Order: sequence, then structure tokens, then C-alpha cells
Amino acid sequence: MPDPSSDNLVEALRKAVSRTSMMAEGMDPELDKTLAQIRRTISGEADENDVRLALKEAEPRLIAADKSRAERAKLFKDSLLDLIESLNSLPNHHIPNQKKSALETNIRSHWQSSYQWPALLAEFLILTKATFNQEAVKKRSFFSRLFTKEETKSEKSEQDVVNDISRTLLNLLGNLALPIEYDEQVSELKSLLEQEKKLQIVPQILSESINLTMIALGSSQQELTSYLGKLNKQLASINISVGNSYKAQKTLSTHRESFNDKIQQQVSETSTAVDEADDLTELQKLISVRLDNISNTMTEYQKQMIEQEKTATQSITQLRQKVSKMEKDSSNLRINLQQKIAQATTDTVTNLPNRSAYQDTIMPMCQLAQKSKKPLILGVFDIDHFKNVNDTWGHLAGDKVLNLLPRQLKNVLSEKDMVFRYGGEEFVFLLPNCNLLDAKNKAEAIRDAVEKMPFNVNGEPVPITISIGIAQLATGESHEALFERADKLLYQAKSAGRNRVISE
Ligand code: GH3
Ligand code: MG
Ligand code: MG
Repeated sequence: MPDPSSDNLVEALRKAVSRTSMMAEGMDPELDKTLAQIRRTISGEADENDVRLALKEAEPRLIAADKSRAERAKLFKDSLLDLIESLNSLPNHHIPNQKKSALETNIRSHWQSSYQWPALLAEFLILTKATFNQEAVKKRSFFSRLFTKEETKSEKSEQDVVNDISRTLLNLLGNLALPIEYDEQVSELKSLLEQEKKLQIVPQILSESINLTMIALGSSQQELTSYLGKLNKQLASINISVGNSYKAQKTLSTHRESFNDKIQQQVSETSTAVDEADDLTELQKLISVRLDNISNTMTEYQKQMIEQEKTATQSITQLRQKVSKMEKDSSNLRINLQQKIAQATTDTVTNLPNRSAYQDTIMPMCQLAQKSKKPLILGVFDIDHFKNVNDTWGHLAGDKVLNLLPRQLKNVLSEKDMVFRYGGEEFVFLLPNCNLLDAKNKAEAIRDAVEKMPFNVNGEPVPITISIGIAQLATGESHEALFERADKLLYQAKSAGRNRVISE
């Protein structure tokens, strides 16, 4: 009976071998064939023995592949060190020592990792450019030569050095095992190396060699993708931090949102484009375009931010001015309104509240009296024969009488009592919280005060009397009904001979 744990083990091994073989593919054409064979064998109904047999057959080839990989790495290291040496022996050029030893250290640390080769070559390219740029510096002054020890260099002509570099690079390319579709590119580069033995051509050749190395390692796309991935992460984090810093400035939130959106869109567009791009040059172009876009967006954003801050400060100042103007206006308006209301409710001849003020007051006073069950007295008085006053002393004299009369009431009425000019020479007074007896006495005092006061016009005495009717607000009575009763009593007083008070 088959052991189930052994079945599981075979299954796991089968998967592991299949996947490992895929990863190893592309290193060596012979090895590729063996790996395909292994996968065929172990797919389907492979048992423990099949897997063991397939692995046994593949083992020497895997070892050989590993060996050839190690050899290739060593060759790469040696080639690169040779290239540095060639550069160093260039006549009339001075290799920057710091950069040289930095590169040598990097080579020693990374030569075994093939994915680092393009980076090392790129560093060599930088070193080459730096060395070429130092040509002018190399033509040193007399004093400089006098006091500095000249380095001892192997005496080589520029032509020899270019030859050395070409040879090393050709050797390197020959060992890269590039896919067949790059054959043409490689042979073009080779013929360029053979024909153009000029120093100026070296950087270009190096740059192309780097590209080919990356292709040979099959890492170009992946490296760029991972670089772009990192770039996107950085942008996303910039985006977040910009976003955070901007949260503090709430007034500018609209711009922050549009900026975030733009950057986010660019980041996601970059990711999509990287996924879709299948060519190295295209990817390089794409990166630079994207970076330009992002940098433009940021510059734009900065501009908008400054502009916005300016506008915000301006509008805050304007707003402040507006608010303070509004406060002033509204306070003026309030004063005006109070004045208007006062004007509208005050009679100009007597300076007493007018009929309109009476209308505003009477209803709430009646309601309050009804509610509080406190007595309210309404009195109506009218100047006796006032027509005669006008006729005898003139209208202005009549006005003067109207103007002076209220002053006679001041001493009689208490603070809570109110007097209105109801119209013409007719007045109404209200005595809150006053019983009928007290009201009668008060009304009598009013009448007496008016009668006793000497009114003079142009030195001549003008006798003035008034007739008064008073009534107390009955339970549930309307103010109109109350007024009517008091008014009737006033006319009774007139009929009874004037200059008297009649109460109910
Ligand atoms: P009675 O005792 O019956 O009230 O007689 P009277 O003359 O006072 O009453 P009448 O209604 O006949 O006349 C009222 C007069 O009051 C008429 C009008 O010219 C005068 N009058 C009303 N308002 C004013 C005012 O504002 N100024 C002046 N000077 N006279 C006024
Ligand atoms: Mg009158
Ligand atoms: Mg009258």
C-alpha cells in the first residue's frame, strides 16, 4: 500500500524541480534542453523513481552550468579591472583616484552577482567620462609639476589604450551569451570597435555594452520595472507627506486634492506603461517623460500654493474689512432704525407717544392686566373749546398749548403711567395696577393741574381746561371696548359742562 506521506513528498519535489528548472532556463542552451526534458518527465504520473532519475540525469549539467556561470563572473571581473587599468594608462589623462578606488571596491564586493554587472559597467562609464574631462587639468603648471611627484605610468600611446579597451569589451560581449535576436547589434558594435579606434568613441561603446549586458542578463526590464516601482513608492510617499502637510492648510484643500489626483494619476499611468512597455529605449524615454511630468506638476503646485496663499491673505484682509464695515453699518442701521421707530411713534408737537404707539401698547397691556388680574385704567381727555384757542390766539398759540400741556401731567402721573396724543387735542392715559378710586383721584389731579397752570401767549393768559372720562378694564374686555366706554364718559363730561372727570 503506498504511503500517503511519500506521495505528498513526491508532489512537493515535483513542483520544486519544475519551478527551479524554469528559473535556471536561459543560462545555457544545452542545459535548457535537459531542463525541458526534466519537466516533461516529472509532469503527469511521475513517481518517486522518475523524479530521482530525472534529477540524476540533470545533475552534471546543472553543475556544469553553475561552473560556467562562475567562470563568466570571473571573466567579467577581470575584464572590468583590465578596463580600469587601460584607462589608467591613457597618456595625458588623469584618472580620478577616489572614483577609481570606489569602483574597485564595488567590483570586489559585487562581481559574483550578475545582476550588478550593468551597474558596475555604468560606474566604469562615469569613471571614463570623468577621466576624459580631466584632460585639461592634467596639463599642469610648471610649479605644480615641480612640487608634485609625477605618477609613473606605463608608456602607452592613446591608440594602444583604445585597442586594449576594444579588445576587453569584445571579449566581454563574446562571453555574455546574448539571445540570437541581438546578434546583429553585437556584430555592429564589434565592427565599430574594430574600425573606430578613437578615444571619443569609448563612452558610446561602453554605454551600448551596458545595454547589451543588461539584455544578456535578462534583467533589463525587471530592473527598470523594479526601479520604477521604487520611484512610484517614493512618489506615493511624497504625495502622502505633501498631503499631510497640506491638511494643516485647510483653505487650500481644493488645490491639494487636485495635486494629489494628478500625482496619483501619473503614478498609476507610469505603472501601467511599465507593464505594457517591452523595449528598453521605450522604457528609458518613459521614465524621463514621467519624471518631467511629475516635476512640472510639483512646480505648478508650488506656484499655485504661493498664489493661493497670497490670495488667501488678501481675501482674509478684505473679509476682515468687510466684516468691520458690516458691523459699523449694522450698528448705524440699528441706531437709525431706533430713531425712525422713535420718530414714527412720537408726536413732534407734544413730544408724547402718538396714536400708533398707543396701538402698539394697548393690546399687550390689556393682555398683561387680564393675565395678572391687576386693574388697568384707561382715561381719555380732550381740551375744552380748543377751537376757540386757535380762533382767538392763532394756530401757533394752539400748538404752544399742546406743547406745554404734557408738562402739567408730569407731577401727577407715576413712572409706570403712560400718556399718548391720540389725535388733535384728544389724549389717552393708561394707569396700570391702579384701582378706580385712585384713578379718579389721579384724573382729578390732572384736570386740576391743567386748570391751575397759567398758559400765556404773548403775555396774555390763556385759560385751558380739559374734560376726562375714565374706565377700568373689565374681565375679558377688548381694548376697543374699553376705549369706547372711556370716550363715552368723556363726552358725558363735556355734556355735563366740561372741566370735569366722569368715571363709571
Ligand atoms: P370741545 O370742547 O367740544 O372739544 O370743543 P373743541 O373746540 O375743542 O372741539 P372741536 O372738535 O370743535 O375742535 C377741535 C379743534 O382742535 C379743531 C382744530 O383746529 C384744533 N386742533 C386739532 N389739532 C390741532 C393742532 O395740532 N394744532 C392746533 N393749533 N390746533 C389743533
Ligand atoms: Mg376739544
Ligand atoms: Mg376734540
